[in-house]
Amino acid sequence: MTVSKDAQYAVVTVDSSLCQGHGECERVTPDVFSLSDELTAQCAPRQPLSLLDVLEHACSACPAGAISVEVRP
Ligand code: SF4
Repeated sequence: MTVSKDAQYAVVTVDSSLCQGHGECERVTPDVFSLSDELTAQCAPRQPLSLLDVLEHACSACPAGAISVEVRP
């Protein structure tokens, strides 16, 4: 079975136990991340692959290492 690239997506996870509310993720990718009232980053977990580069940038920019990005079929 072949999985079409169109069928793939990126799963973004923010570990709220690590997030320190720096807001770098929101600064880098404001269309994806936002800070809650409790200053914890939040985002829709399923993102299009077209955003993979900026998602990986946000992941790298997080000083707490709280963001993970995984491509799923
Ligand atoms: S950059 Fe990292 S620590 Fe800062 S708000 Fe975003 S996920 Fe949380």
